[in-house]
Amino acid sequence: MNNERVKCLIIGSGPAGFTAAIYASRAALEPVVYEGLQPGGQLTTTTEVENFPGYPQGVSGQQMMADLRAQAERLGADIRYGMVTEADLSKRPFKVTVDDEKVIEAETLIIATGATARYLGLPSESKYRGMGVSACATCDGFFYRGRTVAVVGGGDTACEEALYLASICKKVYMVVRRDVFRASKAMQERVAATENIEVLWNSNTQEVLGDDMGVTGMRLIRKDGVVYEKAIDGFFLAIGHHPNSDIFKEWITTDENGYIVTDGRSSKTNVPGVFAAGDVQDPNYRQAITAAASGCKAALDAEKFILENK
Ligand code: NDP
Repeated sequence: MNNERVKCLIIGSGPAGFTAAIYASRAALEPVVYEGLQPGGQLTTTTEVENFPGYPQGVSGQQMMADLRAQAERLGADIRYGMVTEADLSKRPFKVTVDDEKVIEAETLIIATGATARYLGLPSESKYRGMGVSACATCDGFFYRGRTVAVVGGGDTACEEALYLASICKKVYMVVRRDVFRASKAMQERVAATENIEVLWNSNTQEVLGDDMGVTGMRLIRKDGVVYEKAIDGFFLAIGHHPNSDIFKEWITTDENGYIVTDGRSSKTNVPGVFAAGDVQDPNYRQAITAAASGCKAALDAEKFILENK
């Protein structure tokens, strides 16, 4: 194995990773970025981004990530294709293995590996992804103004997304697999008080229905065996996210859902010199702009750490 020593290693290439790379490059940390399995991150799977400041006409997720990448590269970031497969954070420099073969020794490490939205796993759901199937109401809800949509899930995220969608859509169905919500009482009460949300209890999705233009409906099966259909234009998944923190768990403190715990308002993890940014440490906001901001914080924290530990 051939080792390489770097000042700042960034893992992940979403808004958090690239923003960290932009700031770290300007601070002369000569960052190396490994892009991971999904270069550009979750945004590359959305169609249009309308809520990122600075794009008055909106921008495609792909384009925005290409712009961020180009900006980081122009400032000097060394962006590489590769998947981190192992990490030893027991002492500095941290040892991070890429693609099971190359070992990078890093003085500081920024984890920006993101989170992966959970999907049901139906073939029809994959078929209409980006054509009516989405896992982010805040990103895509706007396109369903005045229309009918469904949200799958009964947790806080599902309720929050249903409430948001109810404010812009004609009608929102919530597809809940049990006869109770998992969400907090406060959220449940808000959902119950919203006239255009109808909860379909004890129901699981059998199939997302559609045509060449996209989603047109869903076929559900109730616990008592009754199969029924509803006409919808959008199908939103809110059955949880999985933060991509697994390979760091041996060293890094995470909460009960796997999100990396950071110290107060900083990006510091429990391991000095290791910082976390973006969705891997954020179960609440999960927006491109908040991820970018936390990437900035991580690079500033890494810069300070290097200065203090010279
Ligand atoms: P949760 O794990 O809390 O809820 C997931 C929901 O999806 C549950 O209702 C679950 O059903 C359902 N579900 C899971 N798998 C399937 C499936 N295959 N088919 C159908 N339904 C399924 O995830 P959330 O993303 O809602 O929340 C994650 C964490 O973030 C929680 O701790 C939550 O409280 C927190 N959060 C807080 C917010 C706030 O305070 N404003 C906002 C958003 C999240 P079942 O109950 O049957 O398991």
